[in-house]
Amino acid sequence: MAPEPPATRAQCEALDAADPLAFARARFRLPAGVTYLDGNSLGALPADTPARVARTVEREWGEGLIGSWNAAGWIDQPQRLGARIAPLVGASADEVVCADSTSINLFKLAAAALKLRPGRPVILADAEDFPTDLYMLQGLAGLVGGVEVRALPEAAWGEALAGADVALLVSSHVNYRTGAVRDMAGWTARAHAAGALALWDLSHSAGAIVVELDACEADFAIGCGYKYLNGGPGAPAWLYVARRWQAEAQNPLSGWLGHAAPFAFEPGYREGEGMARWLCGTPSVLGMAALEAGLDTFDGVDMAAVEAKAQALCALFAATVEREAPGVFGSALPQGARRASHVSLRHPDGYAMVQALIAEGVVGDFRAPDILRFGFTPLYLGHAQVFDAACKVAEMAMSGRWRDPRFSVRAAVT
Ligand SMILES: *Cc1c(COP(=O)(O)O)cnc(C)c1O
Repeated sequence: MAPEPPATRAQCEALDAADPLAFARARFRLPAGVTYLDGNSLGALPADTPARVARTVEREWGEGLIGSWNAAGWIDQPQRLGARIAPLVGASADEVVCADSTSINLFKLAAAALKLRPGRPVILADAEDFPTDLYMLQGLAGLVGGVEVRALPEAAWGEALAGADVALLVSSHVNYRTGAVRDMAGWTARAHAAGALALWDLSHSAGAIVVELDACEADFAIGCGYKYLNGGPGAPAWLYVARRWQAEAQNPLSGWLGHAAPFAFEPGYREGEGMARWLCGTPSVLGMAALEAGLDTFDGVDMAAVEAKAQALCALFAATVEREAPGVFGSALPQGARRASHVSLRHPDGYAMVQALIAEGVVGDFRAPDILRFGFTPLYLGHAQVFDAACKVAEMAMSGRWRDPRFSVRAAVT
């Protein structure tokens, strides 16, 4: 059992004074007066990122010009950054590469999985997954023909796998709405027992909780660079292919940088070795520079400590809101589910409440239809700050200040 969350600010201050991750706070640049509870959607700016990006632009690009592909190691960025993400997700350095977006990486790997399981026409997906994952699978099915995307709630997966027609199970490890963690080892084993493969989306897990891709025997995984990895808006994503599939699995987006010899300029495609074949076109060098600075924020950071602190902050926040505003919010976390690193409260006026909180310096986000989502990134948040934010959420909800019509105006990004 986890310990009871602290009930007073003084207890929170004592926890902060003993926090083994307190050193990491200085690695970020956050505006004064803001409690940022949205690192699960866009990680905060690392203190080193502006200088790193400026160096890449001014020195490497401005002075080094095209020579920087070699001299500054631009061409090796996808593998170099992949090797840095690998230990955060329980993978080996040669099983991860940085490329493209999460959506595109999902497409590449799901297509590869279908080819590895001929005669099995079903992709089993989580009906509650982040929509782009479902959309990309639908697009893939439309392209290859004869393939069905069966999007089902987790409770129906077991029965679906029993049908012997499933090629691939695709799911997020952490549900983006509720914050619930799926049993990666268990579901991967059940998929394998049914003759299917498993592809995990780690967008809400990488850098947030302990992930053990190799130990879980996952086949494939993908994830995002701009959430907990702090790579900046639109940062490059990454993908994982278990070593046992690397010789056989094929990238359907056979671009020149995935070729065995890109600079031989041969007319025919020959796939590269290892993870190199999962590249498509030219890497986004400026985005990768920022992502590298984001990954530096994990230097010397123990993921078990990150997960433990995230759990403690989530529990503190949820308990404090409930104590200060009893019964006002519902919880989106299913009964008995393990929570990752964000707390999702439910309220029919959640959108306006989130906007009002942002106006008063507590930044969370809203997910339709009724979820107020608050992410807890242990590298830059402390217990006392989270205690204060929870009191603020409760006070705001009870005050009715959120009823001001300006808080109900919907922006494009919620
Ligand atoms: C954030 C997120 C994505 C984002 O995909 P992009 O291609 O980077 O826009 C995909 N899947 C999940 C589960 C996510 O949480």
